[in-house]
Amino acid sequence: MSDKLKVLFLSSEAVPFAKTGGLADVAGALPAALKRLGVDVRLVLPFYRIARDADLEIRPRLTDLEVPFGNEILMVDVLESKTKEGVLTYLIDREDMYDRLNLYGNDRGDHYDNLERFSFFSHAVFALTEAISFIPDVIHCHDWQTGLVPALLQSEGKKDSALWGTPSVFTIHNIGYQGIFAKERLPVTGLPMKGFFHLEGLEFWGKISLLKAGIVYADAVTTVSPKYAQEIQTPEYGMGMEEIIKHWRAKLYGVLNGADYRLWDPSVDPHISANYSFQKMSGKRKCKESLIQEMDLNPALKGRPLLGMISRLGTQKGFDLLLSVLDEILALDVGLVILGSGERTIAEAIKNAVRRHPQRLGFFSGYDDPLAHRIMSAADIFLIPSRYEPCGLTQIYALRYGTVPVVRATGGLDDIIHHFNPSNGKGNGFKFSPYKPKAFLDRIRYAVDVFQVKKVWRSLLANGMKADFSWERSARKYLEIYQSIVKGTH
Ligand code: ADP
Repeated sequence: MSDKLKVLFLSSEAVPFAKTGGLADVAGALPAALKRLGVDVRLVLPFYRIARDADLEIRPRLTDLEVPFGNEILMVDVLESKTKEGVLTYLIDREDMYDRLNLYGNDRGDHYDNLERFSFFSHAVFALTEAISFIPDVIHCHDWQTGLVPALLQSEGKKDSALWGTPSVFTIHNIGYQGIFAKERLPVTGLPMKGFFHLEGLEFWGKISLLKAGIVYADAVTTVSPKYAQEIQTPEYGMGMEEIIKHWRAKLYGVLNGADYRLWDPSVDPHISANYSFQKMSGKRKCKESLIQEMDLNPALKGRPLLGMISRLGTQKGFDLLLSVLDEILALDVGLVILGSGERTIAEAIKNAVRRHPQRLGFFSGYDDPLAHRIMSAADIFLIPSRYEPCGLTQIYALRYGTVPVVRATGGLDDIIHHFNPSNGKGNGFKFSPYKPKAFLDRIRYAVDVFQVKKVWRSLLANGMKADFSWERSARKYLEIYQSIVKGTH
């Protein structure tokens, strides 16, 4: 028998199977990093249409697995795949729940049956682990979609399951998504009212919250940066959950995300026009020229700073700040390329701005991973004016690509980016604090000024490009947390 620690990762998305945001990057990279540390880690995901259509090696593992759900027994197939790094992944295949165009909903709102979809997924995990005889030492759940699992692990209804009582870790990737549903729908989860629906349980202002279930019932709660772990204990950032987080803070850890440099490194990136590194930057100039051409921007911008932004289009991401100073930014004789998908009103506002500045502003509305890489490599300055940012990954990628981040000092942006001081050469980007358009514009102005002084700019690039934010350090921290909850010493 192996004495390897066994960890089961449950996530609603993971690279390369499905991605809408940073959670997928984390759920793709962290298991691989844990595996390198000797952990037997396996991943479970819903089998969405996007994975069905992708060119991935996926084979059948179980057919007609019976999953008790409510008063019925539903059947699923389970597929199996191995990621490039060798992480065994199980995909729960239930066509009526997951074979849809979008993972969670569309621009008119969430899928009406998300509670059913993710409750079912949680119950399927119990049936799966028994069927394949993989009983983990720790279950690591991510965000509200899997927040039910820590509660089920303690529910009488699951007492006969081999998983019952397994310690769990719950990671909050974004406290803004709380999995809130009417209390009348609690039976869908399979949890009884008694014992669970109360203030110390998953009740949240008369409703149920699966995010809260994860926080309350997991043995350890983590979030994706030390700063965000502090921030979510305050009314400004806690989104109404601050008192709950404060109450449970003894089991709260802030562990910074890392970057997967096998996917995000300009010296090997297959998506970009030319590879480059700090020692040999000529490729970056080529990337910039190609993008200026691709976006049909004024060719004269080659010699001017090119700004980039890759982001979900949501209020969290600071588009109101950007839009209110966009004309002033472009008046600095710079170009800006934006890639984003999400809220229609934000996309419309950006499109209007493109009509005013067709030569300077490029916008691609939609989700496009190769284009994200091309922008990351082509831009000189990367904008992240987020209202809040649990960790943020794009600033970490930007550092490696020599694309200097201008960020708001919040969450992981604040932990990772240090404001550049030309007099001592320290710092890796530019940072502003008040959520005010002027503060943002001032920092961009400053960045553009520093850009003109080539020698100083190069020292700034060195600080970012040579830094190492690989996953290993974070994976070690998670491993410590797993070991402490297995031993019961947390
Ligand atoms: P969040 O998880 O809040 O969306 P993160 O910065 O943690 O923000 O992660 C965002 C990830 O999604 C990054 O890998 C980024 O490159 C990618 N991304 C965001 N929007 C798009 C888009 N429209 N097209 C392609 N990739 C995108």
